[in-house]
Amino acid sequence: MRIAALDLEGVLVPEIWINVAERTGIDDLRRTTRDEPDYDVLMKHRLEVLAAHDLGLPDIQKVIASMQPLPGAGAFLDWLRERFQVVILSDTFYPFAAPLMRQLGFPTLFCHDLDVDEAGRIVDYRIRLKDQKRLAVRALHSLNFRIVAAGDSYNDTTMLAEADAGILFRPPDNVIEEFPQFPVTRSYDELRTAFLAAERGWA
Ligand SMILES: [Mg+2]
Repeated sequence: MRIAALDLEGVLVPEIWINVAERTGIDDLRRTTRDEPDYDVLMKHRLEVLAAHDLGLPDIQKVIASMQPLPGAGAFLDWLRERFQVVILSDTFYPFAAPLMRQLGFPTLFCHDLDVDEAGRIVDYRIRLKDQKRLAVRALHSLNFRIVAAGDSYNDTTMLAEADAGILFRPPDNVIEEFPQFPVTRSYDELRTAFLAAERGWA
């Protein structure tokens, strides 16, 4: 009755927006939840920048289709799925995630969606549920599961706190400083060890 709740970007795949920024040369797209904790502020900024540069969903999907999961992510996910039911809780959007989910064998993903017009312009984004990472963990608790959660950023910390055990994976220093209660892991081996330690803590 164990569920592993994983963040996606920074844990299993690279930061999508940073890759888009690098390939398009638009530095304004480099900000992530690591830099801006307010997700609405961050997304409105991103959509304004895309519109200003006349970039639409097909342009971004081209970039994402050329990305790969982080080295070792596939093997880690396979290992984890033998031991836990795995749910990925991400603040990305289904049209962005699809090419990467294919490479990971389509694990269960709860994220958000985009409104795209006929010309391919992203006109708005649809947050399925605000604070969905934390609320998903809470809902899984109500179904009598125990949850270990792992993530790397500000937008994971409420999920980590709501879970029975929370683990940080390759977090930036400011998140480590603000959330010293969560163990920090730097490699998939350390993350495996942390998941096993969380399980042992339940025994
Ligand atoms: Mg992340």
